[in-house]
Amino acid sequence: MPHPTSPWHAALEEQLVRRNPGEAEFHQAVREVLESLGPLLDARPEFRRAALLERITEPERQVMFRVPWQDDSGAVQVNRGFRVEFNSALGPYKGGLRFHPSVNLGIVKFLGFEQIFKNALTGLGIGGGKGGSDFDPRGRSDAEVMRFCQSFMTELHRHIGAHTDVPAGDIGVGSREIGYLFGQYRRITNRWEGGALTGKGLLWGGSAARTQATGYGVVLFAGHLLRSRGQDWDGRQVVVSGSGNVALYAIEKAQALGANVVTASDSGGYVVDDKGIDLALLKQVKERDRARISAYAQARGGSARYVAGGRVWDVPADVALPCATQNELDADGARALLRGGVKAVAEGANMPATPGAVRLLQENGVVFGPGKAANAGGVAVSALEMRQNAAREQWSGARAEDELDAIMRSVHDTCAATAERYGVPGDYVAGANIAGFERVAEAMLAQGV
Ligand code: GLU
Repeated sequence: MPHPTSPWHAALEEQLVRRNPGEAEFHQAVREVLESLGPLLDARPEFRRAALLERITEPERQVMFRVPWQDDSGAVQVNRGFRVEFNSALGPYKGGLRFHPSVNLGIVKFLGFEQIFKNALTGLGIGGGKGGSDFDPRGRSDAEVMRFCQSFMTELHRHIGAHTDVPAGDIGVGSREIGYLFGQYRRITNRWEGGALTGKGLLWGGSAARTQATGYGVVLFAGHLLRSRGQDWDGRQVVVSGSGNVALYAIEKAQALGANVVTASDSGGYVVDDKGIDLALLKQVKERDRARISAYAQARGGSARYVAGGRVWDVPADVALPCATQNELDADGARALLRGGVKAVAEGANMPATPGAVRLLQENGVVFGPGKAANAGGVAVSALEMRQNAAREQWSGARAEDELDAIMRSVHDTCAATAERYGVPGDYVAGANIAGFERVAEAMLAQGV
């Protein structure tokens, strides 16, 4: 028995840290889920008896592999590839690939762990997995990125498939990389298996709205948060961090709904634009030129300025959408947001807010949407892409967007209703964790040890 003053999960955490040394982000992600589960486990003692916590925190399979490739100068480079197949109780493993120098096993495990519950919340029959590499695409030519992707898939292909594990994009993996990965998968396997990879181009099995889905979904989710407080998007001042796929389409949707989005950022700093972000210009800078965000301020002139090394949280706003990366919003940043009058925060990135930031925001009455609910739109439309591939059909943009809309509403309502049922109304963190966990646990219990 744990000591009465220590939380019930202390022993479990201690074992987790011992068995997974040095994986700080993974420990953080697990701890955050465990802290929500007390009321559920009291109601469902059979989950504890079946050792579901111990089983769910251990990936079903982890693959690590060498990725050798030749750069443009002819030198041979070596990176490390990962695929963590975390849980397949609800469906084939599903989750993105991240190419970024910070990627290591602990990062991939934290992302894979979050993905289990996010995917469960969509209700679309997908398990949880994640992968990637410490390869840094920044500054690499198209040809180098292609050779890297081909080498990566040369190993990965034996682990994936429409009924096994279905990767997609994440940071550093967009439509260009998915194209190179899919081409190599097709060449090696001699199978045109659309359902083995999502985020594909529209001409070769992709789904309408997949590119926009994560960003649009975050804004749809945040809209429900605002409505739960009797507010809406119209005229809201919004800060967005990041300038990748999630940030761009969050900005697009928020603007379409009448909000004024004033920031975007990258790892070097942020831009603040008093007239509102010029999205066409931002897309040009980031997608066409693959340039740094400072180029936006230079090109825009007058209303915009670049703040090197700064954080968007210092800019006053009603709504904050962290869409860059993990732990980008700490307690200090949360205090700055509170000073600026923030009312709602929804996570576009995975785990961008630290536990300290979340606590501060919630204690001060800010409604907070955790990533595993708020950014589930991306993987949800991936699941719709799999459905279209299986049926050999392609939906219209309007149909895909309608489905996304309905899924985000259902994810929101599930979290809200679960929080209510377990005595923590308005706590979307607890609602998402309990609802996601319950679905996976139920399936694991039914399927035996
Ligand atoms: N990487 C995205 C996420 O974090 C999407 C994954 C997918 O589409 O499979 O959910």
